Amino acid sequence: MVLEKYDIIVVGGGHAGAEAAAAAANLGSKTLLITQNLDTIAQMSCNPAMGGVAKGQIVREIDALGGYSGIVTDKTMIQFRMLNRSKGPAMWSPRAQSDRMMFSVEWRSMLENTQNLDLWQDEVNEILVQGTRVVGVKTKMQVQVYAKAVILTNGTFLNGLIHIGEFSFSGGRIGEPSVKGLTKCLTELGFESARLKTGTPVRVDGRTINFSLLEEQRGDENPSKFSFTQTPKLVRQRSCHLAYTNEEVHDILREGFEKSPMFTGRIQGRGPRYCPSIEDKINRFADKIRHQLFIEPEGWTTHSYYINGFSSSLPMQIQYDALRKIKGFENAKIFRPGYAIEYDYFPPTQLKLTLETKRIEYLYFAGQINGTTGYEEAGAQGLMAGVNAHLKLNEKPEFILQRSQAYIGVLIDDLVTKGVDEPYRMFTSRAEYRILLRQDNADIRLTPLSHAIGLASDARMQAMESRKQSYEQIIAFVKENNISPEEINPTLEQKGTPPISHRTKMLNIILRPQVNIQDILSASEGFRQFVDNMNIESVKEDMESAEILLKYQRYIEKEEEIANKLSKFENILLKEDFNYHVLNALSYEAREKLSRIRPKTIGQASRISGVSPADVSVLIVFLGR
Ligand code: FAD
Repeated sequence: MVLEKYDIIVVGGGHAGAEAAAAAANLGSKTLLITQNLDTIAQMSCNPAMGGVAKGQIVREIDALGGYSGIVTDKTMIQFRMLNRSKGPAMWSPRAQSDRMMFSVEWRSMLENTQNLDLWQDEVNEILVQGTRVVGVKTKMQVQVYAKAVILTNGTFLNGLIHIGEFSFSGGRIGEPSVKGLTKCLTELGFESARLKTGTPVRVDGRTINFSLLEEQRGDENPSKFSFTQTPKLVRQRSCHLAYTNEEVHDILREGFEKSPMFTGRIQGRGPRYCPSIEDKINRFADKIRHQLFIEPEGWTTHSYYINGFSSSLPMQIQYDALRKIKGFENAKIFRPGYAIEYDYFPPTQLKLTLETKRIEYLYFAGQINGTTGYEEAGAQGLMAGVNAHLKLNEKPEFILQRSQAYIGVLIDDLVTKGVDEPYRMFTSRAEYRILLRQDNADIRLTPLSHAIGLASDARMQAMESRKQSYEQIIAFVKENNISPEEINPTLEQKGTPPISHRTKMLNIILRPQVNIQDILSASEGFRQFVDNMNIESVKEDMESAEILLKYQRYIEKEEEIANKLSKFENILLKEDFNYHVLNALSYEAREKLSRIRPKTIGQASRISGVSPADVSVLIVFLGR
């Protein structure tokens, strides 16, 4: 059978594929999403949560660009927390606990209601290529579909191999088949592939957990949300709980080491260092007598709990026995064991900054196939691949975000320029312009860019503009108005900061680290009236944005200055087919790496490991000539 012809085919309906399909279709490309099972769209393979440190910023960015992840999260979350509130605003990171089944259902519904998008349940095993251009795909059910561009988002499914103790079996996730044939097809086309691994913990039946022995962790009292659009506010929340391992638990886990696929060398792929299995933790930190576990509910209508921090591929009996030695888990029953999975990925240095492959034109890779880990990283790449495939088909300029514009820019630049040798996840420390890339200003940074290419709607753009207007008015009020000692001194004394003796600029008070904008609002009747009269939708968020801009103005300006200075290097283009080997003044390593990675700009070249500042100077001198 041959299906009708499409502009873009997206292969895989995980987080990357779902965002890619939505973006391409919303831009106007006739799009087909082919996925193995339409009932598992955007399934949360691991923990039932979106966001967190640096990842929360990415979800806000996806939303600001017009993606769906933030909307789906808001509609299905069961708990919200703004992490790192005690730190500076660059570190504030939204995180939501999701109802994982509803998350998938909501994603599917949003995709079904997206114009220009068709869905097809099948498995792609072959890419159809003419010369050096992709022309379509062939599926397990022998269906051929032709398209002008193809985006691969296969996640952990390519030759996936699941490990539990001494057992290994093929699978893309537990209970789902792995994909055979596609890696072979791609390596025959000249792509390089390698193996990585990841793991997941047991899921426990909550009816068998004694929560009275655990520490409760509630959501925020006044919860915020992810999307800049009018998504529902969270009105009821479920709590997480904290539990701890102990030495008895560790002793039991150690008994399983000799059957551990990791320690016996059966797992070859490298796993995420910052997200180690429990056996890895007790092996590496042998002197630690306990490890913290987060007990996360998986939804409103299930008793299933995710035991965050207890990821394991030890034999099932060992996992079970060890679990039951944790305080509160003495009678625990498990729904599913923990397991590890090894899968194929394609080193992302084989991609351009648009996520198009260098080898085959109009073929794009996004998500875990590029060596990343995490729903947010996958979704972001999917959106960018969908956008760029559409733009290229319509002969429009590429859409590339700079490192100073978005975490998404940092993510893709890191992948394409440096490659990965372990599953890549985003951290705030990867970004050099953290104070610019805040979660609160993602719409200001990105909605205008996305609106210009036709993805972010007019309504989004108007919402962004009116939000900006609101917080600018608040800023102007604080800069222009004074507050009296009678109004503010009780607060200042309570906060342990010296009282004032005469009317003082509100700005000077807010610059004190002990004081926040809410304190001034509570103290000043005039300020309260002004804000009430503005009648704004998102008062809390706008007040926060105003406060950040007032308190951190100097740091923000400084980072902007540095970013502007360095941006000149991002604008100096390098020729794609330049022969670096003729430049003898470059080090041998630089010539090799530059020839392989083929950076687009001097800025990108300077970030390749092995290309030194001296090599960059050589390139600049050469280009100057
Ligand atoms: P996936 O979410 O894997 O989705 C891929 C989709 O494509 C699936 O629906 C699949 O059915 C479909 N598909 C694949 N190939 C084909 C094909 N040829 N034809 C049709 N359909 C196809 N992330 C973390 O951040 N922290 C963790 O601790 C963590 N642990 C994990 C543990 C396990 C066991 C697994 C499986 C994943 C874990 N992840 C973790 C990773 C996280 O789930 C992924 O990073 C994220 O889901 C990747 O999104 P994706 O869209 O790239 O792929």
